[in-house]
Amino acid sequence: MRLDRRIDGAPLPVHSDGQTKSDPLGKPQFHDDVGDGGARSDGFVMASTSKSFGQRAEGNDDDFEFIGSFGHVVPSGQGFMNTIPFGSYMTPALEAHSLWKLYEAGESLVEAVRDVNIKIDSGEMVAVMGPSGCGKTTLLNILSGIDEPSSGMVSVNGEKLYGISDDARTDLRGASFGFIFQDFNLLPVLSAAENVELPLLLKGEAPHEARKKALEALEMVGLEDRGEHRPAELSGGQQQRVAVARAIVHQPSIILCDEPTGNLDNNTSKEVMSLLSEMNRNQRTTFLIVTHDANIAAKCQRTITMSDGMVLTDSITTPPEEE
Ligand code: ADP
Ligand code: MG
Repeated sequence: MRLDRRIDGAPLPVHSDGQTKSDPLGKPQFHDDVGDGGARSDGFVMASTSKSFGQRAEGNDDDFEFIGSFGHVVPSGQGFMNTIPFGSYMTPALEAHSLWKLYEAGESLVEAVRDVNIKIDSGEMVAVMGPSGCGKTTLLNILSGIDEPSSGMVSVNGEKLYGISDDARTDLRGASFGFIFQDFNLLPVLSAAENVELPLLLKGEAPHEARKKALEALEMVGLEDRGEHRPAELSGGQQQRVAVARAIVHQPSIILCDEPTGNLDNNTSKEVMSLLSEMNRNQRTTFLIVTHDANIAAKCQRTITMSDGMVLTDSITTPPEEE
């Protein structure tokens, strides 16, 4: 059984039929549409700045229901600070508000991400599902600072990811995120240990420290005896475990995975997913996992489905029956 759950702060709550309440095709605000304060010199615009969470929190006149992290509805205007349980206003690991991403493709404009609002609490493990081309990778790239949104805002552990300098964004991204991709993205000429230590060396860490941490990370994924092997000398599952080691070596608080088991057979998928679940349980690492695999999603605590650039549903995932 799945319980419906809506996103905190979503201005257009998703109904059970998947339709948004109003104006589902509302366009993002660009430079010319925004009054003072919205536009910035880099061309990026904070959409909906006049409707900040703060104003809602004080209970303005909007016809708006605030949904707490535990799924209960707080009617507008009732002073939710008194009624939402404590956990709900801890700083979220990841928060996105009114995110849009438009691509120009020849004459036409592709709306890859359309008015996405998302709040991921620290320690959550969330699956993102949806048909190919619905905007999952684009969303992940925007949430992690790889690709800039056309409008909207993202914050990582309470810190703004956009509207800051490129250097500051690179630092925040490097410190906060680990990445795991479908095709592992290992450098073929480097050994497993060299692949894992590379991000630390690029950050300027001393080689002996970097190697020590890389070997510890490889041990965590059960590959302590494969440090000298190159990717081609490892199975697909082992290569993905090296990629997991690389993602965790700098101890990020959030790990973003784009189809992490897409190139693995069923059994190997299960092994890799067990490893990620264990990290989520033991280290309280936050996970956002794009996947086509219902078995992977079933291991997550929450599943977001996307369609045509929008969030369609956001539900608590019932844990599988004990075997
Ligand atoms: P998914 O990961 O769900 O398969 P994507 O996020 O890769 O979807 O793509 C969403 C939409 O944006 C698709 O229509 C895709 O063709 C388009 N798109 C993605 N990246 C670009 C780009 N760099 N330029 C133009 N269109 C793009
Ligand atoms: Mg994709």
